[in-house]
Amino acid sequence: MQYDVIVIGSGPGGYVAAIRSAQLGLKTAMIEKYATFGGTCLNVGCIPSKALLDSSEHFHNAQHTFAEHGIDVKDVKVNIKQMIKRKNEVIAQNTAGITFLMKKNKVDTYEGVGSFKDKNTIKIKLTKGGEQEITGKNVIIATGSKPTALPFLPVDKKRIITSTEALSLTEVPKALTVIGGGVIGLELGSVYARLGSKVTVVEFADSIIATMDGSLGKELQRVLKKSLGMEFLLSHKVTAAKNNGKSTTVEALDSKGNVVKVEGDYCIVAVGRTAYTEGLGLENIGIKLEERGKKIPVNAQLETPVKGVYAIGDVVAGAMLAHKAEEEGVFVVESIAGQKPHINYNLIPGVVYTWPEVASVGLTEEQLKAEGKKYKTGAFPFKASGRAKASMDTDGFVKVLADAETDEILGVHMIGPRVADMIAEAVVAMEFRASAEDIARICHAHPTYTEAFKEAALAATDNRAIHM
Ligand code: FAD
Repeated sequence: MQYDVIVIGSGPGGYVAAIRSAQLGLKTAMIEKYATFGGTCLNVGCIPSKALLDSSEHFHNAQHTFAEHGIDVKDVKVNIKQMIKRKNEVIAQNTAGITFLMKKNKVDTYEGVGSFKDKNTIKIKLTKGGEQEITGKNVIIATGSKPTALPFLPVDKKRIITSTEALSLTEVPKALTVIGGGVIGLELGSVYARLGSKVTVVEFADSIIATMDGSLGKELQRVLKKSLGMEFLLSHKVTAAKNNGKSTTVEALDSKGNVVKVEGDYCIVAVGRTAYTEGLGLENIGIKLEERGKKIPVNAQLETPVKGVYAIGDVVAGAMLAHKAEEEGVFVVESIAGQKPHINYNLIPGVVYTWPEVASVGLTEEQLKAEGKKYKTGAFPFKASGRAKASMDTDGFVKVLADAETDEILGVHMIGPRVADMIAEAVVAMEFRASAEDIARICHAHPTYTEAFKEAALAATDNRAIHM
């Protein structure tokens, strides 16, 4: 065999697997069909969306909070072309970084579409023309996902668009309709609402970010409406979207069955993502996709029913998150190398990069109730935090859920300033099976947002928060 490991796909799952594989001394190849590495995450996902979230937040603050800080600025304007250009530069820096890492780790890279000829032979339809075959003892499928397409929502990529096009608009829409109140829809909706668009989110469920702890969605909806004027049509089932040339009309049924029409300049369809397996030739090695979700079936070792063929990231079941894909990439190659790695799927944090940010790890209150588990709750609002008052970021709270008998932390749910970073402390605590009392007794620097976690832990243990 030419290679010990062949990785198909260069997203956070694939490239991290390739690097770790090379670190372990395995001869490694990585195939990517696009010209730049990094997959969805670096090219049209995590990184560009955060670049635009950061830029739009600066604009919003310049317009709405600078004056109160005593900074007078006049005629603040959006230069959307520059904003998108900077975003593209951020992408270029990041994708170039992966190219550098591939060279540094001596991973052979191939640009083209990889497909199975047999379980050890991958045929590559090279971008530069022609075909090449490479062989490997092990193959890791890391082909990711693409935006979910619904038959009654025909994405034309002009007015009815996905997250990918929404990251490169050349104008700020006056009105924007977002179908889907999940993470991607809310992040992109926030970007344009901050830049001045009137944003309406149409959501089938009765809350936004419906899979997270219920208290987070309620607070986020309240704040996004208050600070950005975003409108939310919950319990609305979208039935059609139409491109009218220079505008869009989205039709939905409300909970009583009435037809509701929402007009916009653009409509972002953000109803989830679907595993991407096109052109992989799975049929040539007898892998059938799972009925539910059309994902590649894998066992606990992330091995498909075909020995030596593994799958990781968005293309397999579980949270569709970059850091989950990365963990799985490391897990698979360490298993191949004979190590005994472990992933704790209960402790994969989920984050929404709106402002306030939302972050969560472990069980939600709804899950604890459904499991009939006895738990206690401690919450601390940012409006009681000195640091949050100083920065004028007083919306949101931290909520700690702990076992009623043992005090072990079972879930931590945060909404507020910089909680995307703060959640790491909760993950570490829970990984080491800390009790709320443990956190309550650990010194947290003052004044920091992190004190809210300690205060929530104090509240969870005998209701003894200090600043509330
Ligand atoms: P991908 O990143 O999708 O990479 C798969 C790669 O495989 C692609 O480059 C594709 O071209 C390539 N490929 C596919 N088929 C073949 C083939 N046959 N041959 C060769 N190459 C092939 N997650 C977070 O954790 N945090 C965030 O903030 C976040 N923000 C997001 C924002 C947006 C707008 C979107 C769309 C997603 C976001 N995500 C975020 C999700 C994250 O991007 C994905 O979970 C992550 O990229 C999945 O990684 P992956 O390696 O499984 O696949």
